[in-house]
Amino acid sequence: MSSSHSSFAANQDLNELVNTLNAIVWEGDPHTFKFTFVSQRAEEILGYPVERWLAEPDFFWKKVVHPEDQEWVLNFCIEATKAGQDHECEYRVIAADGRTVWLQDRVNFVRDAANQLYQVRGLMVDITERKQLEEALQQQRERKHLLLGRLIPQFQQSLQLESIFNITVTEVRQSFQADRAVIVRSESDGDTRSARHALRAYRTIVAESVGTGWSSLVGMGVSELLPLEHLDSGAITNIQRASFPEEVVDWLEQQQIKAVLSASIWQGEQRWLLMVQQCCQPRQWQSFETDLLQEIAEQLGITIEYVQLYQQLEAKNRELEQLAGLDSLTHVANRRRFDEYLNREWQRNARERIPLALILCDIDNFKSFNDTYGHPAGDECLLQIAELIAGALRRPADLVARYGGEEFALILPNTEALGATQVAEKIRSQVKALEISQATQASLHVTLSFGVASRVPSPAFSPATIIAAADRALYQAKHQGRDRIVQASFPDSV
Ligand code: GH3
Ligand code: MG
Ligand code: MG
Repeated sequence: MSSSHSSFAANQDLNELVNTLNAIVWEGDPHTFKFTFVSQRAEEILGYPVERWLAEPDFFWKKVVHPEDQEWVLNFCIEATKAGQDHECEYRVIAADGRTVWLQDRVNFVRDAANQLYQVRGLMVDITERKQLEEALQQQRERKHLLLGRLIPQFQQSLQLESIFNITVTEVRQSFQADRAVIVRSESDGDTRSARHALRAYRTIVAESVGTGWSSLVGMGVSELLPLEHLDSGAITNIQRASFPEEVVDWLEQQQIKAVLSASIWQGEQRWLLMVQQCCQPRQWQSFETDLLQEIAEQLGITIEYVQLYQQLEAKNRELEQLAGLDSLTHVANRRRFDEYLNREWQRNARERIPLALILCDIDNFKSFNDTYGHPAGDECLLQIAELIAGALRRPADLVARYGGEEFALILPNTEALGATQVAEKIRSQVKALEISQATQASLHVTLSFGVASRVPSPAFSPATIIAAADRALYQAKHQGRDRIVQASFPDSV
């Protein structure tokens, strides 16, 4: 292809004109992919002398185009040329000084009168800045999705405010790459007109995450935390320039706080704060960071409200169960109902001169069970055993109660010691057969020890005597090696 095909190279005026554009104008041979013209601007934009573009075949494709883009760009150009289709593509090139530059290349094909392709022309525009902005925006989006994606499921799953708060400050500090993140609770004294309420009184740090080398605000008293109330106004780049009272600046310096970003968490009338602090240097907060923190604060506010409602509901349920004489964990009778029932049956059995049996049973080595599997697993085990015991009772007058932490009591009216022992044995073997693992050795299972007592009540003895007798027997069962039943004797028997 001869240079006479090049309209720009041949025309001095045109040539000057294209050099005023802040873009690289080029022309090439659509058959050899060689440049026939490159505007002088190429040298300013990419740093390579124009002669190299023109003289060295493959110079552009092999040396200028970014190695990761070479293959697809060349293939794309070949395909587009075959189709003779005007196109536009964006790719990276490496400037002479090593910088990565993004180019947008708009390509047109020129045909002769016989509709034969004889020239290809293009305009390369430096779009690096736009690409960097796009990339930054993409990173911001990813950061937001990552953070919200991690936090919101936790908010929805956990019903423990403490762990929600801790996860929030940890994740927020990490995502913001900040030195400290805190949640500050405000506590109103109930009087909405009080001066302290007007100051919003942020009084307690409920959660904090601090980077190494920076001090902790946790444990500070109410009055020590008062200067925090000056920091509730969004983004503060540099506390030195924020026109705070001198004593506030002093306090902030003592706490190593140089820049702060705050978002409000509304709790009814009260405003809590989610706060990100920079200690190493002032920090210009980006508006997307302000929005992100606010979004997290809103989610957190909803979560706090939900958890508090849930806790109120649970408390109400516990209260109702208590009133109904039920133990809220195991749903068997509670201690109060046990006492009432024992007194009543004691008198009734005394009148009828029939024996009343009491069984006390206690889970063996339950402390180590809790220590190994955790308290929630312990609770689950208690529930299972309570259900099993309740299922083992046959007579309508029988009652099982939660007597203490991991202790159950069974009242069996009109029952001799022998019968009561049989009931205890049934429960003992069934619990063992449940094979609830007791320790890391699978062979160790949860077991129960029993103290069994039975006697005909009389006005001479109070119900306390049968409790004491069963308790002594239980103690002996423990002493003799656990997982067994001991029958009580009554030293005061006549
Ligand atoms: P022993 O065989 O002598 O009875 O040993 P133990 O470990 O069972 O007895 P100890 O009295 O030392 O410990 C009782 C344990 O029961 C400790 C306590 O944490 C646990 N416990 C009591 N109430 C509850 C409860 O409501 N839930 C759970 N998970 N554990 C409980
Ligand atoms: Mg025990
Ligand atoms: Mg016990």
